Amino acid sequence: MTPTVFVFERLAALVHQLVREDAARHGLLPVHLQVLGYLAQANRYSDIPIAVAAYLGTTRGTVSQTLSVLERKGLIDRVADDRHGKRIHLTLTPAGEAVLAGSWPRRLEEALAVTGVDALNVGDDLRRVLSTLQRLNDRQAFGECRQCAHFLREEEGYRCGLTGEALSVAQVVKICREWRSPQGATEPPSASACGS
Ligand code: SF4
Repeated sequence: MTPTVFVFERLAALVHQLVREDAARHGLLPVHLQVLGYLAQANRYSDIPIAVAAYLGTTRGTVSQTLSVLERKGLIDRVADDRHGKRIHLTLTPAGEAVLAGSWPRRLEEALAVTGVDALNVGDDLRRVLSTLQRLNDRQAFGECRQCAHFLREEEGYRCGLTGEALSVAQVVKICREWRSPQGATEPPSASACGS
């Protein structure tokens, strides 16, 4: 194991441990926290049960039980799509947002600030590693909308080239189950190159 791979292994293990501790503090399982974290980032094509299952690499049945627990605890809501009758979107309630607010991502951001690391550049490098690892292991990427091959910047705003629908500013910084690499499924462009 090279020193860099060792650092990845330690980071992954520590994050895993922090997720377990954060979840336990709220009487939840780690997967519950993972789903809340995912839904906080997911765009409107991805905040649906089938996308949650794909993100976690699990079945719809398993996810359905997880979502029921979160709903029962008042941490998520199911909201009917105003254009596509049968589609149900999953949203965080204020209680769900409060659970996330004090969890491990904040501590990681504090660590980045304390160390003075250039988070933007590090993020670009890590995204390339992640994207390549996902491709090599046949995993769905779930990249950020504004870095997608289908993302269109138009005079009036933004549009998804896949669905043809307009995208709000809030949606383009979210992650999407339909995301495709602009460079043939290898690596996304740097966030700093996206101009926002
Ligand atoms: S542009 Fe890509 S990431 Fe954005 S909504 Fe369309 S498919 Fe999803």
